Order: sequence, then structure tokens, then C-alpha cells
Amino acid sequence: MELRLYDTLSREKRTFVPLDADNVRMYVCGPTVYDFAHIGNARPVIVFDVLFRLLRHLYGEAHVKYVRNITDVDDKINDRAARDFPGLPLNEAIRKVTEQTGKQFHADVDALGCLRPTVEPRATEHIGEMREIIERLVAGGFAYVAEDHVLFSPQAMNAANSVLPRYGALSNRSLDEMIAGARVDVAPYKKDNTDFVLWKPSKPGEPSWPSPAGIAAQGRPGWHIECSAMAWKHLGEHFDIHGGGIDLVFPHHENEVAQTCCAFHRERMANTWMHNGFLQVEGEKMSKSLGNFITIHELLDTTRFGNNKWHGYVLRLAMLMTHYRQPIDWTVNRLVDARRILKDWIDVAMGYDDGDPSLPYQLIEALADDLNSAGAIAVLHTLHREARDNPIAARHLNVALRFLGIWNGESTDEIYSYGFDVGGGPSEADILPLIEARAAARVRKDFKESDRIRDELFAMGVVLKDGKDSEGKPITAWEIAR
Ligand code: AMP
Ligand code: ZN
Repeated sequence: MELRLYDTLSREKRTFVPLDADNVRMYVCGPTVYDFAHIGNARPVIVFDVLFRLLRHLYGEAHVKYVRNITDVDDKINDRAARDFPGLPLNEAIRKVTEQTGKQFHADVDALGCLRPTVEPRATEHIGEMREIIERLVAGGFAYVAEDHVLFSPQAMNAANSVLPRYGALSNRSLDEMIAGARVDVAPYKKDNTDFVLWKPSKPGEPSWPSPAGIAAQGRPGWHIECSAMAWKHLGEHFDIHGGGIDLVFPHHENEVAQTCCAFHRERMANTWMHNGFLQVEGEKMSKSLGNFITIHELLDTTRFGNNKWHGYVLRLAMLMTHYRQPIDWTVNRLVDARRILKDWIDVAMGYDDGDPSLPYQLIEALADDLNSAGAIAVLHTLHREARDNPIAARHLNVALRFLGIWNGESTDEIYSYGFDVGGGPSEADILPLIEARAAARVRKDFKESDRIRDELFAMGVVLKDGKDSEGKPITAWEIAR
């Protein structure tokens, strides 16, 4: 079957032809391990897990290599280490932070039904490759040393007369406009305001490594060079697919392309560039800096909304209900819907794991059309309708749920109830959106509205209890008044 994928660089859906069908290679930018991942961070992990599963189906499990890195050198990690372990030497504190956070990340994304990638390289284990790429860039005239920094020059890249792509092509920007629009308070060691850091000096006590040639002091890498080095080490100079969230297109991926193509005299780094849209809250990107985030961990097992918590499969299905390039508005209603749908499917598919294990053709057909997961879900709805009096459809539904990673044979009790029963009173589907709306009103300091909602809930027999979680964030528990 023909696989078609939307490519950010050419801005069109194209037929996917692997460079080597025996070794299909994909790189996805992974987490910076300094804190719990939020549910927005889970979107690329889930989206590219579905693509990984599809590629394995099309080309064979042994013929797909999926690399997702772990960024374990970063200012945010250093800050967190100094804050959380003030008694320890910084390097030990950093190791503790990255180990704990890395474990938590794995626990979270395992619960979301994601397979582990083939390789999960750590930045700190690839400093040698970073140094080598940097030295090649300096030797080629694309980068220069200044005040113990190494800077990459996009202008040198675009002036080179060769096979290289144009800097700005991936993000559809013009370098001239970037130059004109750049801020004036540029760091003194930069020749041009569009130059970006490949290597920089470490402050005393910070992790440091021997620098590239021409710099005596120890230093540490910039962020963009890390991915060029890890992709090169594990996938080579040129590979099939590179993915991440849409916020990474510029500057991160633009700079990765620049580094890799200039170091290896290549026209391309990856043949297909794929980017997922944002997961949003009330129209805004969920992010740490805006403070409008909820961690995967909290959604999986806190009591943020009364006794309610969500099974990882429900979160995963809620994510896949929207096409990966569209924004998702993350609401409790969406989760309530996903949970009801998943329960209906499982009720019918349960027990049908014998017989023909082949995947329904329509499911693969939908996914092969630029990962149309919403289309795949429509196929599941059809199978579910047919399955009531057709055991073949029930088997297909069973195998399709497992393939998508939204079920692995668990009982619906495990997925659905999580110990909660409102009896004859109002249902969770009525209560949770109101609690969410009240929390939003409180965030925007609209206390008239938040009081009104509390009264409305009280009239329904629901009593709220506001408190704080272990990190001091406000949470609201609720119960049915007896
Ligand atoms: P970060 O930790 O910000 O580097 O993000 C890790 C990954 O999550 C990157 O691929 C980001 O593009 C992605 N990401 C971060 N926030 C969101 C969001 N709100 N929606 C979708 N993807 C996101
Ligand atoms: Zn990256």
C-alpha cells in the first residue's frame, strides 16, 4: 500500500519512498529531562508512535529504526539540579535530576501505550560526534570561534555555491528578513545577529567537556547540535523521516538541517519533515511557561477532579481523535467522550482474540493517508456497528484496537470505572466540564462566574472542596452531598 506523508519542507503530501526499505529510519526530538512532561509533550510521542507502528507493519518490524533522543544537558536541568539538591556537587545533582525525570517520562509514555523507540540516545554520550561536526563546520568556513564560543553563520551557508539547501527553506523564511528583523542587542562574540551557538563555555561547576579545536577552555554544546550529532551517529548523514512539534521548525530544525547539510555536503538531512500541531487550552498552546499545563502524571493518577483519573488508553484515544497536524483543544469533555467510546468498543471486542489476526485493510488505508487517525477511528466505529452480529468484524475490531495501542486486553472496569460511581445522581459528564469551567474562571479572576458555577453544582447536589496539590497548584475535589 502506498504511504503518503505531508512534508513541511516541500509543503505538500508526497508518496513516501524509503531510502532503503530494509532499514527505514526515523528521528524524533525527545524530551529535555528536567521536570514532569505535560500532556502537550505527549502529543509528538503518541503521533510518532502510531507512525512507528505503521512503518513496522508496512516494512517489517526488523526493518524500521526509530531514534528518539533524551536531552540531558541544558540550562533548565542545571537550574533544577541546583534548586532540588543544593547539598550535592552540581554534577551529581544533575545526574539525579536527569535519571529521575527520565524514569518518570518512561513510566508516563509507557502508560500511554507507546512502544519504546529502537534507540534512545543521550546527548551527554555523543559529545565526541558533536565536536567532530563542529570541527568540520569550522574547517568548511560555515562556523567560527570567538571568545571560547563556536558560532554557525547562516550567511556563510547561503553564500556557499554548492548543493546545500537554502537556510530558511524549511521554515519558509528569508534570511534577509531575519537579518533585518533581528534584535540589536546581540551578543558581542557574534559577527552577525543571525549566527547561532554550536558550543559555549561552561560556568564554574557546570558540566563541561573538552572543546573543539581552537578552544583551550572546557565547554558544552548548544541545543541544536545535539540532535545533528545523535541523528548522524544512529541514522547516518541522510535518513527518511525527522519529526517533532511544530514549534521546533524554527529555529531548532532549521538549524539541524544547516549543521548536518553543511558538515556533510548534503542537499538534505531527512527526506520527510513531519510536525504535529499544538495541544491547546482555551485556544493557547499548552506550555510550561504559560503555566496552563497539566502533567501526564497528574492526569494518570491524581485526584485533581474529585475521584476522577484517566486511563492512559483514554488519553491516547482522546489525542488520536484529531488529525496530528490540527490543533487539539484539550477539554474534560473530550476525555469523557473518549472513555465512553473506548468502553463501547472493548465491550464488543473482548474475547475475540482468536482466529484471523490480520488487520482490517481500511484501517491501514486511513493511516497511510498522512496518518489520518480520525479516519482510522471512523473505521473502528464501523467495525463496532458490524461486530454485534458479525464475529469477523469483532476480531478485526480487537486487532485494530491493539494495533493502535489503545487497548491490550484489559477489562473495561480497569479503563472506565477507576472506582467511581455517582449512582442515580448527575453524571461525571455533567459535572467535570463545569468544574473545568470554574477553574478557568478562577484563573482569569472572574470570581462572579466561578461562584455562579459553584452554586449551579451545589444545586445539582455536588459539593466542591478547593485545595492545593503537592506542588502548590490549586485542585478541586468534589463529592455528591449525601
Ligand atoms: P519541549 O520539552 O518544549 O522541548 O517539548 C518536547 C516536545 O513536545 C517537542 O516535540 C515539542 O514540539 C512538543 N510540544 C511541546 N508543547 C506542545 C504542545 N502544547 N502541543 C504539542 N506538542 C508540544
Ligand atoms: Zn532535536
